[in-house]
Amino acid sequence: MRKLNTRNYRLATRSTPREVNRQIVLNLIREHQPISRAELSRRMNVRRAALTDIVRELIASGAVSESAPSAAVRGRRPRLLGVRTSGRLVVAVDIRPGRTSLALADFSGSIVSRAAFDTPASPEELVEEVAVGVGRLLHEHTGGVDSEGICHGVGLVVPGMVDRRTGKVLYAPRLGWRNADLRDPLQERLGLPVHVESAPIACALARLWSFAGETRGVNNFAYVSVSDGVGVGIVVRGDVLRGEDHTAGEIGHVSLDPNGPVCACGRRGCWEAFACSAATIARYVEEAGGSRTNRAVISVEEIIRRAQRGEKAAIDTLTETGRQIGRGLGAVVSAFNPKRVYVGGEVTAAWELLEKPMREALIEGTLTDAAHATPVYPDANPAEYRLLGAVTLVAAPSFALPRVG
Ligand SMILES: [Zn+2]
Repeated sequence: MRKLNTRNYRLATRSTPREVNRQIVLNLIREHQPISRAELSRRMNVRRAALTDIVRELIASGAVSESAPSAAVRGRRPRLLGVRTSGRLVVAVDIRPGRTSLALADFSGSIVSRAAFDTPASPEELVEEVAVGVGRLLHEHTGGVDSEGICHGVGLVVPGMVDRRTGKVLYAPRLGWRNADLRDPLQERLGLPVHVESAPIACALARLWSFAGETRGVNNFAYVSVSDGVGVGIVVRGDVLRGEDHTAGEIGHVSLDPNGPVCACGRRGCWEAFACSAATIARYVEEAGGSRTNRAVISVEEIIRRAQRGEKAAIDTLTETGRQIGRGLGAVVSAFNPKRVYVGGEVTAAWELLEKPMREALIEGTLTDAAHATPVYPDANPAEYRLLGAVTLVAAPSFALPRVG
């Protein structure tokens, strides 16, 4: 049960029950598409006539489309309903230290075209480059025809903490940005709604709102991003945990050892300082020593390749990274008791090396049998998940329940 916030509430109006039912129908269509009206009414346990108006409304608004009728063996095959995704476009932007990727995608996350540029040093320059890039993508797609109404918004994913209410990047250690305003100046430049979110939260949202089958119905989970930094998106009862100032989930900067290595945030022994890509690379350089390990050219991908060729230093390095990821997972599982944990990042390509030491450290760091056994899955495509997360920022609100109370 949720307690009413008497200082921040929304009154129900005469149209509220209808809005709620409309979103329920939309979400059921989304989950079971393609679905006939008859099947939908069976699933909802209501008479078909009760759905007629709502379905008509959803089709009229462009949220739902229906297939053309086709002849069946006996009689007419029913028209099937599905969420309309094509023609509803989003620009997704994934900002990383070094490189920023742009993608024009539809509501389902299908990518239409892409672009990329080197991430500039200041937020002001970034806004400028993103504005130019978005304009170019839309212009190319529409052939110069007015794109108004085609693009529903721009989603930006950043490696840092974001206050969703203001759209400000509160702190991005690896970009060196504090209180950077990306949303408002971009919105002004583009005349489109702009949404900004931290990368792990956006990845968690992409999982939560995924059109693909596997994660549907999982409403409690954690998404751990292990890449340039380490961040966590926590989903509790179908919503992302944000906290009072929107900085919840910063477990990457919880210190596991006050005498540990110095972190990008300036403090010592953060989970991130043990588990991020730079930590893996530093460990490998130390482990391998000698001339074969030029730190400037070695990457996590290269260490994985060397491990796959059987090089001991690379195998030992990745095994240790698995253990370090597992140490932090113990804290995540203890604190939030997720149904599942997803781990994303380049390093997950070495899952067969990571898994065992990670599980051992997770068991060491948790107290119950169920916590020990919490399923942990690698994200098959983390780079794409950040872009999908950016798409979700724009697309998901249209499927969310109206907030009342
Ligand atoms: Zn830190």
